[in-house]
Parts: sequence; structure tokens; C-alpha cells
Amino acid sequence: MDQNWKFETKAVQAGYEPGNGEPRVMPIVQSTTYKYDDAQSVADLFDLKREGFFYTRLANPTVDWFEKKMAALEGGVAACALSAGQSASAFSILNIASAGDHVVAASSLYGGTVSLMTNTLKKMGISVTFVSPRADEAEILRAIRPETKAVFAEMLANPALVVLDVERFASAAHRAGVPLIVDNTFPTAYLCRPFEYGADIVVHSTSKYTDGHALAIGGIIIEKGSFDWTNGKFPEFTEPDPAYHGLIYTKNFPTAPYSVKLRVQYIRDLGIGQSPFNAFLSNVGLETLALRMERHSSNALALAEFLEKHPKVSWVNYPGLKSSPEYEMACKYLPRGASGVLCFGVKGGKAAGEKVMNALKLAAIVVHVADVRTGVLHPASMTHRQLTDEELVAAGVSPDMIRLSVGIENIEDLKADFDQALNQA
Ligand SMILES: *Cc1c(COP(=O)(O)O)cnc(C)c1O
Repeated sequence: MDQNWKFETKAVQAGYEPGNGEPRVMPIVQSTTYKYDDAQSVADLFDLKREGFFYTRLANPTVDWFEKKMAALEGGVAACALSAGQSASAFSILNIASAGDHVVAASSLYGGTVSLMTNTLKKMGISVTFVSPRADEAEILRAIRPETKAVFAEMLANPALVVLDVERFASAAHRAGVPLIVDNTFPTAYLCRPFEYGADIVVHSTSKYTDGHALAIGGIIIEKGSFDWTNGKFPEFTEPDPAYHGLIYTKNFPTAPYSVKLRVQYIRDLGIGQSPFNAFLSNVGLETLALRMERHSSNALALAEFLEKHPKVSWVNYPGLKSSPEYEMACKYLPRGASGVLCFGVKGGKAAGEKVMNALKLAAIVVHVADVRTGVLHPASMTHRQLTDEELVAAGVSPDMIRLSVGIENIEDLKADFDQALNQA
């Protein structure tokens, strides 16, 4: 890969580079195992003395090509593809925090991430303090304790659509000597590259725009490669790992210690890696990411403007709208477009909103966002159902909120569908 390639070129060509006579299209290596001519080669692989593949639970060529492309698109040094976005969020933290540790998170989060943080991580002995995504640096720093190991936030919160001030969160995290982990699922690297604003780790649910066709569940963790793990807060990175004959991650793998540790500890021991078939499908989607994100963004803006003027609509939230409190942040961090998700409420509240959802013909009710087909969902009764009323408010979910994921269909057809459905309310 030529490092100077622009985004669109990397999205098509990075990662997989076929040699003479090899398949032009990234193939699926659908094999759990790999053949070697001598025992020493395999022993060296086990000792991490050489790079290669020996068992697909740890690494697989198709998954590796997909990881390399994602790392190239985000501007990171390495990536680990996992079985779901949920495992990406979970292990981005578990790779650096264990029982007794603490995490600070911006409260406007995906419902599954809220549940992960408040229930599952808690059971593992990791506590979380939530701060407002609008918190200033002093407020973020006040939430950080000596045992805090990371700050976590969503770049464009699902479904609150708050645009993170990454620079502010990165600055606070770095003053405390901990990395900033950013979930960049909604913008994708095409609309925003959080590493350029100070993020240290980026995670994605690749089930969303990365795949884009709603074919495959997946997640990925990408490492920027510049965080100083030797600052005294992360002894697991700087002290010998007994599981690997005393390997020291920062010394033996100085380029991408976080990714190597994640792979040889958690992907190896817990089997959380992405399947080759899903990596293959996700890569097919990724090839058209730039084109899709342009259309998702322009369609969403046009539909948001249409809904804002519609007499049956009570409110619209889309960061690309001039009327949005997020507009200024969106101009700074999402200059190419504000992605394809918007939220709105219908006059008459939840019941009227339900009527509109049921009356839509082209847009379907789906528990998914960010694929080529337009879909709607009612977060309070669906994705965020497990949250308490307080958590709903913190996550930015009102009872009447309809989350609309705008696809890449023709905008006139979309407007007509929403118009006829709203007129029935
Ligand atoms: C969907 C989503 C997740 C979880 O991803 P899965 O692939 O469904 O596990 C995490 N973060 C955000 C922002 C999401 O939209």
C-alpha cells in the first residue's frame, strides 16, 4: 500500500495485496488450520518469534487483510477484528483494566454499551463513572481516580447524536495518563478520524456502516500506536507475561503492544475473534464506504430538513441541521457530513409516533441502523428497553424518540414515504 493513497483508494485497495497470478479479489481463507513442513516453524509461531498463521482462533489471512484495511483507513498501526461491536467495546477496556480498576465514560452511549458498563464490567470488578458528553476538562478530571485506566466515549452518540469534543476528552485523559477510547461506529473513518484529534484506541461495530449491507455482525479495535504504556499505570504492558515465557509487550512489540497483548491474551484465551466469512463480507462493504457515507449523509440532511418543516413533526435532531445544538461541533469534527442517522418526535408523542412507524412503506421497522435500507426504531421500547428512566435521560433517549437510519435510496421516494405516513398520524 502507498501511504499517500487517499481514503477512497485505501478503502478499495489497502490490506490485501495480491502477488503475481493470485486472486484479484480478497479471498476467504475458510480454513481453521495451516500446513507446515517442519516442527520448528510452528514452535517459532507459538513463541511469537515469527509472523504467520497456525490456527484461525488466533489469526486468519482474510481477517488479517480486513484488519489491515481498517487500520489504514483510521490511520492506526494495527487492528484486531472481533465477533461483535459489543466485544470490541468490552475488550478495548478489558485489555487494560481488571478487577479493582475504574473507567470514566461519556454518558451518551449505545444501549448495549451502557449495559456492558453498568452490569457486566461491574460484575468483573471494574467500576464506571459517567460524565456528561458536554463535561469540561475539570469535570472529566474530577471523575478520574488513581485506579482509572481509560476514558471511553462515542464519537457520534447512538441515538443521542451528540458529537464528542474529542480534543477535550483526549486532553483530560492524557493529563491523567490514561488512553481515550472512542467508538467511531456512526461517523466511520470517512467522516471522522478520531486519532487525528488525540484518541488512542478506536472501536467500531463493523455490523453498521463498515459492512453497510446488514450482512455480518462484527467489531474491531484499532490502535493508534502513540500512547505511552510505560508511564507506570499499565504494569501488564511493561512486566514479563508468564503466559508467554516472560514476554514484555512494550519491549518485544513496541509498535503495537496493545494489539499484540489483546490477540495473544484475549483473542487466544477467549475465542472472540471475527470469523473469516464475516471479515470477507465486511470487506466487500468497506470497498464502497466512501460513496455510501456521502449518500447517507446527504440523504439524512435532506430528510431532516424535510421533517423539520413538516407540520406533524414536533422536533428533529440531526447534527448537520443548522438548528441543532450540535451543529458547531459537527462542522468541526464531521465536515464531510453528519452520517445517516437522525431522530425525531411526532406531535401527539409516543402513540402518534408508533402510528407513523406502522404506516411507513419503504422504511421498515428494524433493530438495526446504518445499512443501505432506510429503517426506523423506537429506542425506549427496543434497543434501550433495559435502561432505567434515569439512564434513558443520560443516554439522551426521550419516550417519543423515533430513530431513523437513512439509507441510500432516492431522496424523493423517502420524503414521499414519510409524508404519507405522517399524514396518517
Ligand atoms: C451497534 C453498536 C454497538 C454494538 O455493536 P454490535 O455489532 O451490535 O455488537 C456498539 N456501539 C455502537 C455505537 C453501535 O451502534
